[in-house]
Amino acid sequence: MNASREGRKTKDRKISTKKLIIGLGISILSLMIIYFFMGILPSTPEKVVAEKSKKQAIVKKKDEMQEYPSKEKSKGKVVFLTFDDGPSELTGKFLDVLKEHNIKATFFMQGSNLQKSNLQKYVKRAISEGHYIGAHSMTHDYSKLYEKKKFVPEMKETLALIHEITGTSPHLVRPPYGSMPGLKNKKIRKQIIKEELKIWDWTIESEDWSLPNNPKQIIKNIKKRTTIDTEVVLMHEKPQTLKVLPKIIAFFQEKGYKFEVYQDDAHFSCNFLNDKNM
Ligand SMILES: [Zn+2]
Repeated sequence: MNASREGRKTKDRKISTKKLIIGLGISILSLMIIYFFMGILPSTPEKVVAEKSKKQAIVKKKDEMQEYPSKEKSKGKVVFLTFDDGPSELTGKFLDVLKEHNIKATFFMQGSNLQKSNLQKYVKRAISEGHYIGAHSMTHDYSKLYEKKKFVPEMKETLALIHEITGTSPHLVRPPYGSMPGLKNKKIRKQIIKEELKIWDWTIESEDWSLPNNPKQIIKNIKKRTTIDTEVVLMHEKPQTLKVLPKIIAFFQEKGYKFEVYQDDAHFSCNFLNDKNM
């Protein structure tokens, strides 16, 4: 009997000890859970913020990497007016029209004309008024430039003349008659890359040179050939071009284009060979 009572007592004690342990266990667990959430919860938003800013930093880095093309994109419609074969007796008048409209243009000048001392004042004026002058060879002679492969030496000579007259150091050249087919020649292209020359053809051929008696057709040609966001218009220092230049400017303004001048440090490729290296 005693033994059985003792046994029951022991059993009861065992049960209450068990209950106590379970109770304590639950309390400790609850405390741990509360502690866990008190400890973790406030830091969670911080962690989220930290993660977010890390992600933003990565995105920002990407943006910086893509700065050049995205910059180009944000520019919207851009037109580069270009004039070949100068300097000439008309250069000053072209500069007057551009000044009147507050537009900077890109000129490709020919060495044989740059050597004429009476025209050099226009060359200097063009630079002082914010225009760019690139090279268009010394002779403009197809056979000499492409068949006899004098392209690079002639361009270098022309660039040196521009530097002598204006103090600028341009790298951009325009191939007479365009880069196709003349610059398909690999030897010339190797020389171009080695000398770090940049080549610009055009996206719009105005055909102004062939229209001395029909200047209105120049405007028509330009209008129907304006199709993309970045246009490079080929024109020449000709009387018929000068005559319609204000109308050409008005057309691009109406179409929402901004006028830009070429810059060596913002070069983009524009050549019929689709060669990204020049
Ligand atoms: Zn030319």
